[in-house]
Amino acid sequence: MVRRAPDADEFASQRQDMVERQLRRRGIGDERVLAAMAAVPRERFVPEPYVRRTYADSALPIGYDQTISQPWIVAAICEATALTGDESVLEVGTGSGYSAAVLAQLAREVLTIERVPELAQRARQALRDLGVGNVEVIAADGSAGLPGRAPFNAIAVHATAPAPPPTLMDQLAIGGRLVVPIASRGADMLTVFRRTAEEIDAMTGAGLEREVIGPCRFVPLIGSEGFSE
Ligand code: SAM
Repeated sequence: MVRRAPDADEFASQRQDMVERQLRRRGIGDERVLAAMAAVPRERFVPEPYVRRTYADSALPIGYDQTISQPWIVAAICEATALTGDESVLEVGTGSGYSAAVLAQLAREVLTIERVPELAQRARQALRDLGVGNVEVIAADGSAGLPGRAPFNAIAVHATAPAPPPTLMDQLAIGGRLVVPIASRGADMLTVFRRTAEEIDAMTGAGLEREVIGPCRFVPLIGSEGFSE
């Protein structure tokens, strides 16, 4: 027997459940983030073979050896950016486009970079189909950011960097936040850097506040300022 996919109402109810059980109960407290996660239909970004598992508490395959991230980690990254609504945001690692759609609810504009051109194209289409008008998808290596479009009020990286990335820090506005998983011996560590001064030094940490949110697991950031392929 072929099981039918849930309809829009069933997905909406699963989404509300996800927000309460996976996010609110597990510490996501920013009401704007919770509302954004409740508004974006994740099922529109999940490939058909996995669509029944859209609201599972896990990442899911999207092809090209990549994944759409677990809902909780998307919410945690969005919360760590501390957006209030009028920001320009750079996202590195578009993947399916889902996290960009959530960020789009929280900021004025989102520029998102994906190194796999086929995924960038699919994400662009999914965002267009959903009527998301404030996201620009760029197919490129995002490990060095987008210096020509900087500064950004927030930078969200959805792949693990080998070390704190100075080039991305340089592209933060003063007061801006960079949220990035950093490789360490045991587990990747989801880390937030807040730029506090014009002059910054990634080596000494001058001009930067640093907070570790906790362990996480991501695909590697591959590129000129990431891991080699
Ligand atoms: N947040 C995404 C979503 O909601 O679907 C999932 C992101 S997935 C975990 C990580 C993505 O980062 C992959 O699609 C991968 O191709 C991309 N990536 C890795 N290195 C990159 C780089 N240097 N520049 C841009 N994208 C990169």
